[in-house]
Amino acid sequence: MSDWRLDLGGIVLRGVADEDPFAVPRQVIFPEAEPGLLARSLALDPLGGDVAADDVLLRVQVFAIEAFGRTVLVDGGIGDDKERPVRAAWHRRHTDFLDRLGIAPEDVDALLFTHLHADHVGWATRLIDGRWVPTFPRARHIVAAGEYAYWAARDAVAPVNHGSFRDSVLPLMEAGLLDQVPDDHAPFPGLRFRPLPGHCPGQVGVMLQGTRQSALIAADAVHHPMQLLDPSLVSAFCSDPAQARVTRKALLEEAVSEGLALVPHHARGRSLWHITRDGDAYGLAANNRP
Ligand SMILES: [Zn+2]
Repeated sequence: MSDWRLDLGGIVLRGVADEDPFAVPRQVIFPEAEPGLLARSLALDPLGGDVAADDVLLRVQVFAIEAFGRTVLVDGGIGDDKERPVRAAWHRRHTDFLDRLGIAPEDVDALLFTHLHADHVGWATRLIDGRWVPTFPRARHIVAAGEYAYWAARDAVAPVNHGSFRDSVLPLMEAGLLDQVPDDHAPFPGLRFRPLPGHCPGQVGVMLQGTRQSALIAADAVHHPMQLLDPSLVSAFCSDPAQARVTRKALLEEAVSEGLALVPHHARGRSLWHITRDGDAYGLAANNRP
């Protein structure tokens, strides 16, 4: 697993892998993709697919940020010990993630959630003596109010997101560590939420404003380079496909016109995307290290 680091000036962003690769059959995540699109996308990221297996290769990661003296995580990955019987690779895991994160849990000031899917919340809790307890005991856990309300209403009927709302989110609420905020909330200097609805109703990105450079953690507004070649291609995991399409197209346009660098959550070989336009499609500029 290749972790990466980017210094924006006053803000250091690291991507720490929780599962890499996260292989998803192309027909499961992008059933409407035209033939050959996965193969063509490998020109943008050679690590983004296994054409012979027709698998899309993603990365699940946790972003660790040192921003002007604060230690902040964005998203919580899959986590260990969770009951995820329908997804074998996520079921009752035991990993060295917390060691690789390299931050003592009590030193984390905040964990920001872009949205509440199972692969974005898992490390928020740990199983101790049969109970789910917050992993980061001092951290404020911050989520857009609309995102929390949407899943809370559904979970009241039946467990949602592989049960992760109950084992990874509700314990934070019960511990008094969860804050529901507006979708343009600015939790700390240099960090601000930005609404990116569609994949989930209350999904947000996180804008990082360094002294030298800015970048937007773009959550799951764009999953994979296939969606640069075909911006209308919606993943099967999106709550509102039409809204997801509108959000992605507007974001990619802005990225080109404003020079906004994107960090898509699940990007694999290329972590920082400088978007270029190519007719109705988009591409990636070569100078996008890391
Ligand atoms: Zn995701």
